[in-house]
Amino acid sequence: MRAGGGTRARAAATPAPGHPAHRPSPDPGEGAAELMDSDHTSTMPDGVRRPPPHADGVRRRLPRTDVTLADPRLAAATERLGRGIVKAVVAGAQERARAGEIPPHEVTEQAVAALPATAGRLRPVLNATGVLLHTNLGRAPLSSAAREAVLAASGTTDVELDLATGARSRRGRSATEALLERVPPAEAAHVVNNGAAALVLAATALARGRDVVVSRGEMVEIGDGFRLPDLLVSTGARLREVGTTNRTSLADYAAAVTPETGFVLKVHPSNFRVTGFTRDVGVAALARLGVPVVADIGSGLLAPEPALPAEPDAATWLRAGADLVTASGDKLLGGPQCGLLLGRADLVRRLARHPLARALRVDKLTLAALEATVRGPETPVHAALHADPGRLRERAERMAARLRRHGLDCRAVDSEAVVGGGGAPGVTLPSAAVSLPASYTGPLRRAEPAVMGRVEGGRCLLDLRAVPEAADGALETAVRRTCPVPAGAPTGSGE
Ligand SMILES: *Cc1c(COP(=O)(O)O)cnc(C)c1O
Repeated sequence: MRAGGGTRARAAATPAPGHPAHRPSPDPGEGAAELMDSDHTSTMPDGVRRPPPHADGVRRRLPRTDVTLADPRLAAATERLGRGIVKAVVAGAQERARAGEIPPHEVTEQAVAALPATAGRLRPVLNATGVLLHTNLGRAPLSSAAREAVLAASGTTDVELDLATGARSRRGRSATEALLERVPPAEAAHVVNNGAAALVLAATALARGRDVVVSRGEMVEIGDGFRLPDLLVSTGARLREVGTTNRTSLADYAAAVTPETGFVLKVHPSNFRVTGFTRDVGVAALARLGVPVVADIGSGLLAPEPALPAEPDAATWLRAGADLVTASGDKLLGGPQCGLLLGRADLVRRLARHPLARALRVDKLTLAALEATVRGPETPVHAALHADPGRLRERAERMAARLRRHGLDCRAVDSEAVVGGGGAPGVTLPSAAVSLPASYTGPLRRAEPAVMGRVEGGRCLLDLRAVPEAADGALETAVRRTCPVPAGAPTGSGE
């Protein structure tokens, strides 16, 4: 049942699983091999519980590297992955043979088994954290429509060419047209590298050497130590902070607006909530101040999302009078990482023509994924947001019952998921999870495919809200292959 038994069992038995210092090692046997090499000598009698063979003897019996590389499967892998990667895999298998972990004649088989799926080291991860947009897991997973569009655009493509006339065309025009169809109050749109870049471009083009007026209640740290106020100041704009942490009034803004004002900035506090004695000023009121209003919605919702009534959207804030809305593409929009700028045509044009725009521009893959996200079918993020809790519970029950039949200590439990990734703070989404012993957390992370759960109440919870139903089989297989079956437990007679 457990593929590759020995190394997996050892990997699972090493330091506390779930400990951050415990990193998956490409070869869990390495440490042991070094010890054996230094502790044992050629005088060891042969045949005593598989002693490490004498290094010279093994070296002589090891197939030559070029002979190993000529194996048809490794030769094909060299075509597919490149020689460097395949050579490194072969070297790893040879190392294990020298350490006495595998017999020399198994080097080729071991190397074939250890070949990576792709030439990159990023691996797919099943997001069972219950956090729909997990920044460490790359936020929004793309829809299959978006993935196909990326693949189609990955060669040479007409990103900046009109095939009908043969003339150069505006880069990414079809993606911005798609956005404008979905956000009618926007006159124009421009796409940059991410939400932070959208703000930087707006501040640089509209407020360098001038004032950005912003409420003290909206000075947000967006994560990993990055703060919007620092970002704005880095462009050469001056911050004019108004109001207090909990309360800001229109009069506070009005008193700060001068001929030096570049724009008033409205920021949606997307990752925290202030409750109690609070007051903030909406976009409609700010729009009456007579200076441009730039509004950062954060999440990238193009239109109201009924499941998240407190989350602002681009169309609503533009109708309310925002001159420009900025947003991220890989949060609730459910698309690729990018930054959206939507709003007044003259302002968007100024931003798009600014020299900095060239440094922030997105590649064809992003444009392809964005357009397919905006035009295409329901995104995985939308599906996860609207998943039926009863159905989630059914899936968890079914999976837990099957895993129990394989002897695993496992049950279905109710759970609470969150949007995460800087969206809908304080909102919890009823969910269901498969509950396993906490010690399974680390081995699952190193499984194939990798499974990221969360530890809660001393158990490892695999929350199903962000797991597409189509991935249930893969998740169950990963658990069955990875998790050590407790001694004495009934073993698999299930299917
Ligand atoms: C997430 C977020 C940002 C930053 O966007 P990135 O796409 O991560 O650069 C800026 N402002 C708000 C309100 C956000 O929620």
